[in-house]
Amino acid sequence: MTHEIAFLTCHQKEAVVAPILEKQGFAIRVETSFDTDALGTFTGETPRTLTQVQAALKKAQLATELTSCRFGLGSEGSFGPHPQVYLLPWNLEVLALWDRLEEHAVYAILGTSDTNFATEKVSSLDSALAFAEKSGFPSHALILGTPADSFFSKGIGSSAEFQERVQAALKVSPSVWLETDMRAHMNPSRMRSIQHTTEKLSALLHSYCPQCHLPGYGLTEMIKGAPCEICDTPTRIPRAEKWNCLKCDFTELHPLNELAPAKNCDKCNP
Ligand SMILES: [Zn+2]
Ligand SMILES: [Zn+2]
Repeated sequence: MTHEIAFLTCHQKEAVVAPILEKQGFAIRVETSFDTDALGTFTGETPRTLTQVQAALKKAQLATELTSCRFGLGSEGSFGPHPQVYLLPWNLEVLALWDRLEEHAVYAILGTSDTNFATEKVSSLDSALAFAEKSGFPSHALILGTPADSFFSKGIGSSAEFQERVQAALKVSPSVWLETDMRAHMNPSRMRSIQHTTEKLSALLHSYCPQCHLPGYGLTEMIKGAPCEICDTPTRIPRAEKWNCLKCDFTELHPLNELAPAKNCDKCNP
């Protein structure tokens, strides 16, 4: 039996999402009538009020309301510096699948440094071209200016257009803001991240809660504190994985490391 999943997207994400979920008996129904940018955009034309996970869920719920499908899918990406390695760019992708009948959400979350995310303020055509070069342009599109600028432009994907627009902008402003366009249809790296997130979602849909039998049962937290092999002090090495059902709160601890090597112990190896 095939279940329809309503998906609100104007950015052609269904190209990578549909083939994976179809294998699990879901058919993707794309809804482009609703402008998802109204919930907030990457370039800040509309400020965001929800967290990333809440925004993905909101889109999934809206999709079911607008279509009367039982299932809805919401996608939300964010970009910034890597949480530990500051100079590395980082892409966090969230997919939320909402089941309106069970009032149950399954979330797939993926963090990756496989992204071209970058921003730069430039004051010459040469530095603009250097930025384009290292940003994977023209296969990955660029954004010129900010929404407040008269020359603001998104989705620039040709070298001739980019040069023209930069030159025109530099005539009216001493410096211009450049940004990689992270919308999926403008950015093959982003599309790949969404594909990998869908694969994660697909695996979660095969994982059922032992108590309430709804899908999406999986790892929610790494429990730190495996004891040092010499002095027994708790370390930062994980001692267990916590698996948790978001619907009924059933929880299991899967042990990982009974002991941690002394080199990870703050007492033995400060
Ligand atoms: Zn459960
Ligand atoms: Zn120790």
